[in-house]
Amino acid sequence: MSKLLIKNVKVIATVDNKKTRIENGAIYIEDNVIKDIGSTTDLERKYLTVNRKPLTVHQIIDATDKVALPGLINTHHHLYQTLNRNIPAVQDVELFDWIRILYEIWREITPEGVYVSAQVGIGELLLTGCTTTVDQFYIFPKDKPKDLIDYEIKAAKEIGIRFHPCRGSMSLGKSKGGLPPDNLVQSEEEILKDSERLVSKYHDPKEFSMLRIALAPCSPFSVTKELLRETINFARKKKVRCHTHIAETLDEEKYCFETHKMRPLAYMESLGWLGGDVWFAHGIHLNDEEIRLLSKTKTGIAHCPTSNLRLGSGIAPVRKMLDEGVAVSLAVDGSASNDSSNMLGELRQCLLIHRIKSGIKSMPVDDVLWMATRGGAQILGRDDIGSIEVGKAADIILIDTKKLGYAGGMHDPVAAILFSGDSHIVDTTIVNGKILVQNGKLLNLDEEKVIDKANKIASEMLKQASKKTGIDYLKR
Ligand SMILES: [Zn+2]
Repeated sequence: MSKLLIKNVKVIATVDNKKTRIENGAIYIEDNVIKDIGSTTDLERKYLTVNRKPLTVHQIIDATDKVALPGLINTHHHLYQTLNRNIPAVQDVELFDWIRILYEIWREITPEGVYVSAQVGIGELLLTGCTTTVDQFYIFPKDKPKDLIDYEIKAAKEIGIRFHPCRGSMSLGKSKGGLPPDNLVQSEEEILKDSERLVSKYHDPKEFSMLRIALAPCSPFSVTKELLRETINFARKKKVRCHTHIAETLDEEKYCFETHKMRPLAYMESLGWLGGDVWFAHGIHLNDEEIRLLSKTKTGIAHCPTSNLRLGSGIAPVRKMLDEGVAVSLAVDGSASNDSSNMLGELRQCLLIHRIKSGIKSMPVDDVLWMATRGGAQILGRDDIGSIEVGKAADIILIDTKKLGYAGGMHDPVAAILFSGDSHIVDTTIVNGKILVQNGKLLNLDEEKVIDKANKIASEMLKQASKKTGIDYLKR
């Protein structure tokens, strides 16, 4: 059994039900579980000496000047898109055009591309404080191997992040009125068969699980009604969760109204897609009645502020959702619409944009922290992560406040993490009791090697797509 003591923590923000904060605190961990929390003096007395004999812990982290937070939980992502950041042709276009252009590039993805993009995205998430991430993977080109999603699972396992991969899917091609090209969609049968394979191969429902599968048809404009209905039925039979994009843009609202004579949420409701086992990304264009319906049915929302700003989609009514009791979590979304997988950055973005949407008092630090930890845990159906409490998984981040960007702002060190700072790179990230980031560096990944590989594959994808479409993606 490994024993780890983190001591001299400037402040521990536990994010427990009472939002307890402990100054000069300490956390004692055995293997992958938090066993004790308290003052440094108390825990040193308990664990550093037994009858005045030497140490009983194997490792000590001196966290002087550091703030400890529960590991952040990212509830929506498309890791493969780290290879499609900042493409000039889609820098300044809205969702539907953005996605139509990108489909042509996405279909050039290879197993190596999936693997390397996951290394990039997961690496960046860990460096910016995320310890559990969701990923929705939905690109299965007809001419590529069918198990592309397995390559991101391989990368996540090797690096050590807690992972909730979603088997994404697209079944409604252009010829049938959908947005994606026909060679990027699969049949319902093929999708469900692969969903079954993934659940039986990887899904671990146990406490402290490092991997749980969810099923995630991509969006109302890229999947059939039948697939949505069959996916939710299958997921409930298998006791796995379901996820999709909803109410992201007014174009989507128009599409649903024209195609199904319903608003997006009503459409999902008509297919059985509301409940505590479902969470939607975005939820920007929702009216008051729809927000109450989400609350009543315990359906969750993954709020993606940066992506929503980047695509000009709008600002989600998060204050209203929280007031109505909707489970809201935070997410970076894919790196083609965020251009980054910066989790701490997402917290700051969330803190700031709602002050414009719903007033200066509408988004205090505590609410942002709650969404990024407890909100995420709730949406993923987990009570073993999301706070620093005895019995919870040892998913903890340490942020060094002895930096110029925080100087002069130590009146409230926890709030400083969101309001101030010149970098979102954390000092230490611990996942399931293992140190994955130390002194701001990833321990399980050769960053330079991965950067070079990613740049090479990213430009190769553009070249291949250009050859087929004749479009110069480097032009705005
Ligand atoms: Zn997304």
